[in-house]
Amino acid sequence: MLYVQKFGGTSVADVERIRNVARRAIKTKRAGHDVVVVVSAMAGETNRLLKLSKSVTPEPSERESDVLVATGEQVTSALTAMAIQHEGEAAESFLGHQVRIVTDSVFSKARIQSIDCTELTSALKEGKIAVVAGFQGVDAEGNITTLGRGGSDTTAVAIAAAMKADACEIYTDVDGVYTTDPNICPSARKLSRISFEEMLELASLGAKVLQIRSVEFGMKYGVPIHVRTSFNDSEGTWVVEEESEMEQVVVSGVAYNRDEAKITIVGVPDHPGIAAAIFTPLSDASIVVDMIIQNASSDGRTDMTFTVPKGDFKRAVETCRKTMEKLGCNDIRGDENIAKISIVGVGMRSHAGVATKMFGILSKEGVNIQMISTSEIKISCVVDAKYTELAVRALHDGFGLGDVDGVSKS
Ligand code: ADP
Ligand code: ASP
Ligand code: MG
Repeated sequence: MLYVQKFGGTSVADVERIRNVARRAIKTKRAGHDVVVVVSAMAGETNRLLKLSKSVTPEPSERESDVLVATGEQVTSALTAMAIQHEGEAAESFLGHQVRIVTDSVFSKARIQSIDCTELTSALKEGKIAVVAGFQGVDAEGNITTLGRGGSDTTAVAIAAAMKADACEIYTDVDGVYTTDPNICPSARKLSRISFEEMLELASLGAKVLQIRSVEFGMKYGVPIHVRTSFNDSEGTWVVEEESEMEQVVVSGVAYNRDEAKITIVGVPDHPGIAAAIFTPLSDASIVVDMIIQNASSDGRTDMTFTVPKGDFKRAVETCRKTMEKLGCNDIRGDENIAKISIVGVGMRSHAGVATKMFGILSKEGVNIQMISTSEIKISCVVDAKYTELAVRALHDGFGLGDVDGVSKS
């Protein structure tokens, strides 16, 4: 069997933990399997490096930022390979460009285009444990790129897909995927299985336990993903194809995202082509717009409100200001103190009244809803960021997630 084992920042936070990672990989190898280890940077390191760059210049070049933050994973991949060798097994480390993980050139959120596994395969054939630096790749011009925050998950699942691994194990600081973030909701419950679709929604709505791109790869290539902890041997959560019994659960999880900001363009002339005029420059700037609300117009003018990642907020406002001048809008307003709270569940497809119940729970807690968006299997509300924990806990318990019986029970 071939296992890809990914260890997050807390699992490689210090030398003792790196030794623990080495021992775990060796145990799998000695049980007769091939092992590719993917490591994140030490906990806090990526943030430290980003801060460091900002202390040099407020607007660091995106190319150089990627060169800088990719070093975090370079350090842990080398240390992990050394720790494995120290325990008496052969190991070799690989950076993104050495594997050849080729990405596009969108620095800080590059997408993987291809992976050449030749080098990894020959390392395994030579009896080595291959240790890959997560989060990084190389573009067609040879520039170092990174895959977005949490991108080591995607490195791991993409390698597992490319090498047709039997499983991709994601070792993190919680022992599986929960009904909501266990760090803010004490009654959160560990799931033994979750469907790719639900995991995709949870990840896209802010549950950072898996980066969304990793779930997309897993789903597309059918990679069995096992989210678990590196601190003990207990089973975690399997992310699997949807099973019919899962449909019985209407709401299976609650997610929150505090990494978005809200922009309102006031007094937009209401005529055809206006949305394209506003959003095309944003997408040209690689800014991903999430929720969009256009109000009913009065006097031929309307307000357009939408959310963007906080990291792109300043650029988005500048871009919109230019558009505004062209269009003759009245004003632009921004708010960085928002949170998007979402409920997710495949069972919502066949149940009415879920949204009403969600709004009722939030109103009972006195939480004002600023924006709403729905899809087949999720409902999201934007609220003031200060209500995040309150809203998550109220929704989690209001939908009985702490005590649901059935497939979700671990
Ligand atoms: P790593 O460094 O191992 O990649 P992350 O911090 O990226 O770890 O992801 C793990 C964190 O995800 C947990 O500590 C937890 O706070 C958060 N999280 C959010 N939603 C969930 C959820 N539904 N289940 C489990 N963890 C979640
Ligand atoms: N080190 C990167 C981050 O902190 C990638 C990862 O940990 O997955 O976002
Ligand atoms: Mg992560």
